[in-house]
Amino acid sequence: MSILLVVLEHDRGDLPVGSLEALTVGRDLAASMDASLEAVVVGDADLTAVAGEYGATAVHQVTNEMLADYGPDAWGEAVAQLVRSVAPAAVMAVGTDRGNEVMAQVAARLDLPFVANCLSVEAGDTWSMTRVQWGGSLLEDSTLTADTKLVSFAHHAIEAAPGGAASPTVKTFEADLDHSYTATMITDRVVLASGVTLSTAPVVVSGGRGVGSEDAFAPLEELAELLGGRVGCSRAVTNNGWRPHSDQVGQTGTRIAPEIYIACGISGAIQHWVGAMASKNILAINTDSDANMVTKAGYAVIADLHEVVPAISAEIRRRRGQ
Ligand SMILES: Cc1cc2nc3c(=O)[nH]c(=O)nc-3n(C[C@H](O)[C@H](O)[C@H](O)COP(=O)(O)OP(=O)(O)OC[C@H]3O[C@@H](n4cnc5c(N)ncnc54)[C@H](O)[C@@H]3O)c2cc1C
Repeated sequence: MSILLVVLEHDRGDLPVGSLEALTVGRDLAASMDASLEAVVVGDADLTAVAGEYGATAVHQVTNEMLADYGPDAWGEAVAQLVRSVAPAAVMAVGTDRGNEVMAQVAARLDLPFVANCLSVEAGDTWSMTRVQWGGSLLEDSTLTADTKLVSFAHHAIEAAPGGAASPTVKTFEADLDHSYTATMITDRVVLASGVTLSTAPVVVSGGRGVGSEDAFAPLEELAELLGGRVGCSRAVTNNGWRPHSDQVGQTGTRIAPEIYIACGISGAIQHWVGAMASKNILAINTDSDANMVTKAGYAVIADLHEVVPAISAEIRRRRGQ
């Protein structure tokens, strides 16, 4: 039986939802290929149970003391060695920065093509896929004929869902690495924000140039706190130095997928939209009824955000009796 490997992105054992998306897609793909779904865990993280919940029948635990933390060369080389050993029909990962970085490393080391950020994949002798290009503004139809197919699936393109529960066999693979692979390694972490992160927040209240100043973000902070969410912003805001880059939503910022995105004074340029378009609901607050964000939003208030945002917070407090 052929094998479909899914490389699980994780951060010292913390598994982002993107890895579960990759397993969900991989499960359907493996079924269509009549292949076994097998997970790859780089390092010592114990992710066997969750891999099994999503249908993996085996977990390849790729070990080496140099894999204690993330490094693109070390991870890429270790996975490439595993691929040489296991000879899978295909390898996939989630199309995050890290997922694509590892897959690009694997592709370069194996001299294979890699198709990144797919939205749909149809397996066969030749694979057919549609993938996102140019930050989401172009959908490209591709075909892939390599013996070992390397693909990543676009982050947030599907909902992760457990299924096909299995009790995976754990297979340990000791990678052969030396210090030439550790030129770039994570050695430390600085926690920039407490609570929910921008990419996982259920509610994001974002401000654009229309907010007007750093201080004018206070009502957005208040609304985000009331709703258990996070504040985001557009690049016009980070360019002005009103918010840090870690708050930026978009092509060169964070891609988000909240239950609701409240976009205040943001025009909705394509580079911003690609980061926000996976939101389940969008409320645009804008003085311009023709703004791109307004025409794309499910809900819109055409008014001055400086009046609307405090009014929403006041109404929430009133209903909560605060
Ligand atoms: C390579 C590249 C990458 C980029 N990456 C990103 C990215 O990751 N993220 C990103 O956001 N941008 C990105 N940009 C920039 C993007 O093209 C836009 O310039 C930017 O998103 C505009 O920000 P904005 O909507 O806040 O400002 P504007 O386009 O100036 O829009 C301001 C909006 O506020 C409204 N407004 C004004 N006053 C009020 C008020 N009082 N009440 C309500 N509404 C009001 C206006 O009607 C307008 O719609 C990128 C650009 C390039 C070239």
